[in-house]
Parts: sequence; structure tokens; C-alpha cells
Amino acid sequence: MMKVSLNPQGLAVLTGLPVLLVLIALLLPLRSARAQDAPPEPGPVYIVQSGDTLWSIAQRFGVSMDALAQANGITDPNQLLVGMRLVIPGLEGLSGVLTTTQIPFGESLASLSSRYRIPSALLIRLNKWTNPEFAAAGASLVIPVPEESGTLPDLRGNRATLKTGQTLLELAVRRGVNPWALMGGNELPAGWAALPGETLYLPGDDSGPGALPAGITAAVADDLPVIQGQTIAVKLTASGDIVLNGDFTGRTLNFFQDADGTWVALQGVHVMLDPGYYPLTLNGTLADGTPFAFSQMVYVQDGNYPYDPPLVVDSETVDADNTRPEDLQWKEITSPVTPQRMWSGMFAVPVPDYYADCYPSRFGNRRSYNGSAYEFFHTGLDFCGQTGTDIYAAAAGVVVFAEATTVHGNATVVDHGWGVYTAYAHQSEILVNVGDHVEKGQLIGRVGATGRVSGPHLHWEVIVGGVQVDPLQWLERAFP
Ligand SMILES: [Zn+2]
Repeated sequence: MMKVSLNPQGLAVLTGLPVLLVLIALLLPLRSARAQDAPPEPGPVYIVQSGDTLWSIAQRFGVSMDALAQANGITDPNQLLVGMRLVIPGLEGLSGVLTTTQIPFGESLASLSSRYRIPSALLIRLNKWTNPEFAAAGASLVIPVPEESGTLPDLRGNRATLKTGQTLLELAVRRGVNPWALMGGNELPAGWAALPGETLYLPGDDSGPGALPAGITAAVADDLPVIQGQTIAVKLTASGDIVLNGDFTGRTLNFFQDADGTWVALQGVHVMLDPGYYPLTLNGTLADGTPFAFSQMVYVQDGNYPYDPPLVVDSETVDADNTRPEDLQWKEITSPVTPQRMWSGMFAVPVPDYYADCYPSRFGNRRSYNGSAYEFFHTGLDFCGQTGTDIYAAAAGVVVFAEATTVHGNATVVDHGWGVYTAYAHQSEILVNVGDHVEKGQLIGRVGATGRVSGPHLHWEVIVGGVQVDPLQWLERAFP
């Protein structure tokens, strides 16, 4: 039986056959080795999906529409049919079906190259990356899938981390692998090119993150791709005691160890942050004292928040002299990070059930007040309510603020731990005091029309890592 595999050069290799046959096979594209009746295809193919146009496919693979049409003998773009096989020109040396997948968190160009056995240079060319750091978590990745399998290959080996003072040769001997294979598999020009703390790949099975050290057994930044105004949860599992620090969009990631041992950091992504690539960095030391550092770009997607019609409000409530001190005060109240997580599961709707799906305004809407530019945004989720309607705590926590303010009116802020806060604004009555422990669903106040409002409603905020986030996400899924 012939055995077909892709070597790092992307060539089809046949094992256990006479030399002549191997030479013939090397001159033919991969699939012709399997099916003698199918004509050879010059390069990888893309199978047309529903909704594709010749233009969208050309865009996706960075080729001109003309070149794509010519390579496939297409004279009329309307000829395109779902299921058609299109040859993508300019990708010689590759074969298989081009498939798009999402880059997970915890990978790098080197680990993706190792995982799919595709040389880094080819991966860069295939994905039209102008910078290797664009192997971003949440971004899409185009890879060729051998037609036999039909699924994404995951061929990555075990990880090993070079310890301080250890040479590549020592590591190879210790793990029983050929040092030359170790260098080649990791695209290292020489043994000295590997640095302490660097993640290297060894043959074998592994389900862990590709680019993180061997001491970290699982890593995920969930809800990828990250969207402006949403909460990102970064989770790691590590063996032994580790020291873990992190940073994303200029904010410190606050890692805490959950009851099951998982390290978790929750962080809000600012709703006005420009969509694009931002580095998520991690560093620290592993249980054996080996230092490590990791950085991966994370793609932040546009939240497509709508623009509200211009609003006219009491000029005093938009005067920067009044609003700036309150913004600073709000920041100060919600910046401490309490190490105890006091909530569990999803947050509860903070108003009676009959108002549960009634939102006069949602989070993130771009706003203009009294003719200003659209430099403001709606910092919370508004619930319908009449003056006197009950307000309930969304989750268990401790009241850290309960007083009258200019913009938020009568406001209450509850600390839930791990840098997560909820705020309740424009109340007619505050029914709790600073220092009170509240339970999920506990009556804490009544809806009103105090502060910068045009009528009675509850303005409800969720603040994570010092950033106001979309509260709906916290009503729809459980964090962490
Ligand atoms: Zn509001």
C-alpha cells in the first residue's frame, strides 16, 4: 500500500517503493499519486462555497480576479458554481484543499508551522502576512488540507522548554530525540540558536498550546475573535506553582487561580479601541524556576455599534468640569482588584422579569450630546422601568459606592471580585450602604430619573479590569 505524506518542503513523499516510482511521484502533484484518472492540478485548490464570488475568492487569497479566472479557464464570473474546484495561482509547492480555520490563542508562527508541517515561509506566503506577528489569535488561517483526510491535520509534537544553562544537545539526549531533527523541526540554524525558556517541538502527541512553555498544559482566550466592548477570558492550566503576569491593550491582566486550579484573567476590551491587532503578552516563571515570555497578536474586531440620534440634555451634565471629576471617581471606585471571586454562574437581570428584554438603549452606542462630536458612547445597558420599580443585585458582592452624583444620579456600585463590578444608576432610592454584602437577586434600590436622563430607567454597567463592557454578554454566558 502506498503511503503519502507531506514533508516540510510540501512535496509528496512515497515510502516503501522503488526509487523510480518515488522520482515519478515527486514530479506529480499529491492527488495524482492517489487517483490515476484525475488530471493533475497545478497547486492547491479551493472549493467554492455558497456565498462566494470570484472577487471574494481573489481577495481572500490575494490574487487578481484576472489571474484567478485565467488559471481556471473562467470567461464569465457568473459561471461560478458551489462545489467547483478552483486552482489558486501563485502557490506552487503546495497541494490539497485550501481551508480556513481560526488561529487559537497560545500559538505562534513557529508552532503553527510545526503543527501543520508547513514551513514558516510558505505559511506567511499562503496567508499574505506582511509580519510574522500576524499569526494572531482569532484571525483566520488558510492551510492546505490533504484530500484524503478532509479534516485539519494536527501533527504537532510534544513541547519541551529549554532550561537555563541547558544546551539543545542535552535536551535532545534527555528526551531521546536526534538533535539534528530537533533543530530542523524547529527551523533552528544551529544548536545555539535556541534560548532558555524557548518552546521546542518533539515528536509525539500533545493537545497543549503550541507556543507556550511545556509547563503550561492548556491555554485559551475564549470568545475569539475579540470584539470591541466585550470581555476576554484568558485561561491557563499549569503544572506546579507558577508566577504569571500578563498585559493586553495596555492593561494588566489580573490572574487568579480558580477552585479547579485553572488560572483565569478577565479583562474588558474598550469599546472605542480601534479595531486591529494588539499583543497579548504573558511572562513569569515555571515551577522549576525557568523564566518564560510569550506574546501573540489578538485581533480585535469592530463591534459595529450604532450611532444614536444627537441627544439634548441639561448642559450641566455634559460640562467637562462636572463630568471629569465623576469619571475619575468612577475609575477610582472600580479599579481595586479583589482576589476573591464572589459570583458564580451568569449574572441575573437587575429588574423584574417583565422588563427583562426591554432595553431603551444598549451598550456601546456612539453618542453626541448637545451638538458635540460622536466622542461619547453609552457606557451601560438601559432597562425600562418606572420610578419605583425594583432593582436587584446582578450577582453576589460587596457595595463599594452608594451616593448621589451629577451624571449617574443616585448610584450604587457592587464589587464582585477579580476586578469585576456592576453599577446601577439614576435611582430614585438607594436601599444599601457601602460595606453591605449583597446576594444575587437582592433588592438594592428603585428605578428613578436622577442625573443625566430624559426619563426613568435603570442604567446598568458591568466594569471588568477598569473597562466598561457589554453587560448583555454577562447575562448570556457564565464567566469565567
Ligand atoms: Zn444608560
